[in-house]
Amino acid sequence: MNQEIRMKTKHFYAVLVILGFLLIYSLSSNRGCDSTEQAALELQSLQDNRAAFIPNHKGPTIYAITPTYARPVQKAELTRLSHVIRLVPNVFWVIVEDAEHTSNLVTNLLMRSGLQDRSVQLSAKTPANFKLQGKDPNWLKPRGVEQRNKALEWVRQHMADNGGRERHSVVYFMDDDNTYSTELFAEISKIERNKVGVWPVGLVGGLMVEKPVLNRDEIVLGFNSAWRPERPFPLDMAGFAISSDLLWDNPQAQFSYEVERGYQESEILRHLTIVHEMQPLANKCTEVLVWHTRTETPKLDAEKQLVKSGKHSDTGLEV
Ligand code: UDP
Ligand code: MN
Repeated sequence: MNQEIRMKTKHFYAVLVILGFLLIYSLSSNRGCDSTEQAALELQSLQDNRAAFIPNHKGPTIYAITPTYARPVQKAELTRLSHVIRLVPNVFWVIVEDAEHTSNLVTNLLMRSGLQDRSVQLSAKTPANFKLQGKDPNWLKPRGVEQRNKALEWVRQHMADNGGRERHSVVYFMDDDNTYSTELFAEISKIERNKVGVWPVGLVGGLMVEKPVLNRDEIVLGFNSAWRPERPFPLDMAGFAISSDLLWDNPQAQFSYEVERGYQESEILRHLTIVHEMQPLANKCTEVLVWHTRTETPKLDAEKQLVKSGKHSDTGLEV
């Protein structure tokens, strides 16, 4: 009995001490209004930062179409992309390998990045006569035509299997070597039905930035492009995305080997929209959220020497 009373007294004192601490803490943290405000501001900015990393859980599905081909930097490029896609839950990755068959490298990458359930792995080999050869400059032949068309075919079939144009979704051509901000996908999510969204692209067409030019009413009048500005749509593949109902309504819209260099974007867009009807995004086209970066081809002279003697630095590893 006595012991029980002692225990209760102990508990009483313990609670008293905790309450005392809490009182002192609350008094000290309320002392200066400035410091509370500061703390609130810091918290807000932290939350804002987090929002930038996870831009949207909802929004239309964005089918991100990526043509890719085997080369020493392929895994590095796709790893970079996969980490962006992981952060944007409404992206579905349509990855199309320029090859006869899909590869283990890409399958493993999708698995390790946890994207199996929101990706599809396809292949479509560029015909030999359209494939760039060793020392060809990269602009000599169009790149990604076969792969993007294959992906469009997949998207249209996927729509057919899921009620046609009933559900709103968006298609974006996401090359494997560019640099994408997660914020870009928050902008793409704003694309309305029957619309093509447009925004600036950094480091392309010989300029720091290629961008749509708007009038005061935020209508797209044209583009600031320096390279072939006479093209119907003088913009880069990374600078627009398409509401998929437009693709559904215009089954003939796709890419082509028959067009002049630099006309792939115009070739698909001419079926879908006119410049004045494009939907400007990225804060009235004042922000750069994607860059047309290009990765330097690595110099592998020492590797070639090794190979001559029948060895490889990467035996047993995937680089
Ligand atoms: N690509 C491809 N096969 C090729 C060359 C390129 O599938 O033989 C892909 C490449 O991975 C990229 C897209 O097509 O996603 C555009 O190619 P690249 O980045 O070389 O073009 P550029 O940036 O010069 O327009
Ligand atoms: Mn590129």
